[in-house]
Amino acid sequence: MSPRFDLVVRNGTLIIPGVGTVAADVGICGSRIAAVGETLSGSAQEVLDAGGKVVLPGIFDPHVHIGNELSFEQEAQSETRAAILGGVTTIGIMLRSLDDSYFLHLPAFRRAMDEMSYVDSVFHLQIFTEQQIAEMPDYARQYGVRSFKFYMSGIPGIVKSVTDDVLFAGFKQVASIGADVVACVHCETGALIERARNELVAHKPEGTLADWEDAHPAVAEALAIRTAAYLAKLAAVHLYVVHASSRQGLDAVRAARREGGRVTAETITPFLGISSDDAIGLLAKMVPPVRTPEHRAALWDAIRDGTIDTVGTDNTSRRRASKRPEAGLHGSRPGHPSLGTHLSVLLHHGRRHGIALERLVDLATRARAYGIFPRKGTIAPGSDADLVVVDLELEKVVRAEDLRGMSDFSPFEGKALRGWPVATIKAGKLVAKDGEIVGEPSGRYLPRAEP
Ligand SMILES: [Zn+2]
Repeated sequence: MSPRFDLVVRNGTLIIPGVGTVAADVGICGSRIAAVGETLSGSAQEVLDAGGKVVLPGIFDPHVHIGNELSFEQEAQSETRAAILGGVTTIGIMLRSLDDSYFLHLPAFRRAMDEMSYVDSVFHLQIFTEQQIAEMPDYARQYGVRSFKFYMSGIPGIVKSVTDDVLFAGFKQVASIGADVVACVHCETGALIERARNELVAHKPEGTLADWEDAHPAVAEALAIRTAAYLAKLAAVHLYVVHASSRQGLDAVRAARREGGRVTAETITPFLGISSDDAIGLLAKMVPPVRTPEHRAALWDAIRDGTIDTVGTDNTSRRRASKRPEAGLHGSRPGHPSLGTHLSVLLHHGRRHGIALERLVDLATRARAYGIFPRKGTIAPGSDADLVVVDLELEKVVRAEDLRGMSDFSPFEGKALRGWPVATIKAGKLVAKDGEIVGEPSGRYLPRAEP
């Protein structure tokens, strides 16, 4: 008896990290992949022809901020709509509670991601207080949280920093929960940033996007990575460096690894696709900053040599009216939307840099570091049926209104990118096709179990 599939993706070229490039069909039953093989036999309720296209595992963006501008619930829908159109099917959300216990917020965050979201999600809790450190093991037990984030430098008006003693205590607590639990760190040394920012305000009260890098010198990133790596090694904790941005920072990652540290390094597509001399100007302002073409080239080198393990977005959606580029460098707010362009930026620039397609897909689907592989991040029987069908030759000019998030601008506005999703399948259902949403939100929060 030949099996009956709910959906078969036929005639595509599968790009599977660690496996390779395979011409095969994918058979789906319910929300899972049931079979992968050359010309699958058996009937199918629905067929999606992927001839001439590549089929990738659904993209996992490990670094997303939700609810900075509208409510968490509103953005849980609007920004994941942009995500799924862009081929992203799972996100890691950096949750923020500056003072309170997360027990006050986790039920609502979880409900929003279960009821409103187009994509699946894991949570990384940002840790600021002693109470939160004390409660970390309970966050892990009750909500399946197995990643925590620390800021070594704050962002005025948005987020606080922690001092080294809190960082170290937090690391030890992370290690006590389990060897799989990850300490994500925003690595910039706060005092160096504060001095640099004050000097920039004094010397360049006007300022441009290119000047913004002076407020976040690479030395601050490199020193913080050295410090965090040293403390992480002492605490025997897995350090995850978020949004590495500079040549010096990458050298610090390499040094930490030479010294035996367990370090995962992430960069983000805004850093890979935009330099500080870009005509987009202050709409691309973020923290850390987009840097000079030399730093950007160093990031691509680090992708080539394996220093960088994973690529996210640091998506922080805003609207122009609150971004306020007209308020100048010091008056405009950091953050911009980047989920909808994430995969296309990586494919477009990655291929121009001669990076193999399989490597690019690997970088964009690294579910391993966060304990959700092989449920996510591969195409195999038993894995979730999250797939993105990409036309590598399709070229489109980025327009914010096509991205369908809540932002009315994109830092990539007006740029022509080659390589776009033409269909996204989430949990076995076709949700996005040819740039339009054709299905319902079916995202779930994914509690992670102790391995
Ligand atoms: Zn972030």
